[in-house]
Amino acid sequence: MAKILVTGGTGFLGSNLCEKLVYQDSEVICLDNNYTGNIKNIENLISNKNFKFIEHDVCVPLEIDEHIDYIYNLACPASPPAYQGKHAIRTTKTSVLGALNLLEMAKKHNAVILQASTSEIYGDPLIHPQPESYWGNVNPIGLRSCYDEGKRCAESLFFDYHRYENVKIKVVRIFNTYGPKMDTDDGRVISNFICQALKGEDITIYGDGSQTRSFCYVDDLINIMMQIMNSDENLVGPFNIGNPSEFTIKELAYMIKEKINPDISIIYKPLPSDDPKQRKPDISKVKNTFGWEPKVQLDEGLDKTISYFKEVLNFK
Ligand code: UDP
Repeated sequence: MAKILVTGGTGFLGSNLCEKLVYQDSEVICLDNNYTGNIKNIENLISNKNFKFIEHDVCVPLEIDEHIDYIYNLACPASPPAYQGKHAIRTTKTSVLGALNLLEMAKKHNAVILQASTSEIYGDPLIHPQPESYWGNVNPIGLRSCYDEGKRCAESLFFDYHRYENVKIKVVRIFNTYGPKMDTDDGRVISNFICQALKGEDITIYGDGSQTRSFCYVDDLINIMMQIMNSDENLVGPFNIGNPSEFTIKELAYMIKEKINPDISIIYKPLPSDDPKQRKPDISKVKNTFGWEPKVQLDEGLDKTISYFKEVLNFK
């Protein structure tokens, strides 16, 4: 039975991944410092004999005695309000020191290690949609740079460990993803809009709402991430993974308002600095290599996510 380490395992993506891995009969070690992750996300797994939780910060080197076959490195705050401001330095450290510590571990265990990189490495992109060959447009001293540059440095470390230390790597660039197990206070747009609408509060659009994003349902994302992890050793990436259907934030606000409560208002707030104007993955590489395409479109994915938040917030 494969032994798999998932860092960031109590977070949104990490906990969804742990669940899939445990149910497909792998032994999973879930590691998190619960800074933005939530132990509640793994409550259903704690008693499973194939699951173990370790509270640990990836900035600190760690030793695991058991042999590890695969490492998914998902540890990092991912929501702009969580990674900016007073948490900025912690964010860079988590990306860079976390990558270093886990790459060292992968080397020692001869494990395959997958880095959860991000569409943010493209910054405010000047090319649309974004293919993997695009080098990006990142403000290196802006409010988002702790995340963007931290993740860019992590990619650099991954490729150097692959080139010079023969570590088996996989790099995926994750575009906006949503679904069950997102935190109600996460701060990202889909969870904000749904929770606001369910509570009867105004929906807050930042800027004029003309900026675009392309949203991927979590199950689709986890499926391709696992497929990439288990693929041929030469397929190191980077691979864009996400759903290329693009929406303006205003369109999203109206979709959620209509689904939950057509009577609530939409209000406009200032656009955060360096907020990318457009984002859409070019997924040809992953499509041609793995024959993968997302299956769940926004309308269906929103319904599933709304049901989840209704339960969490105790709405009928
Ligand atoms: N956004 C918004 N209202 C919110 C939260 C976010 O209009 O309550 C906007 C945000 O400014 C950005 C987009 O929605 O343009 C996506 O933001 P999110 O934080 O989900 O992720 P990002 O893609 O910016 O990392």
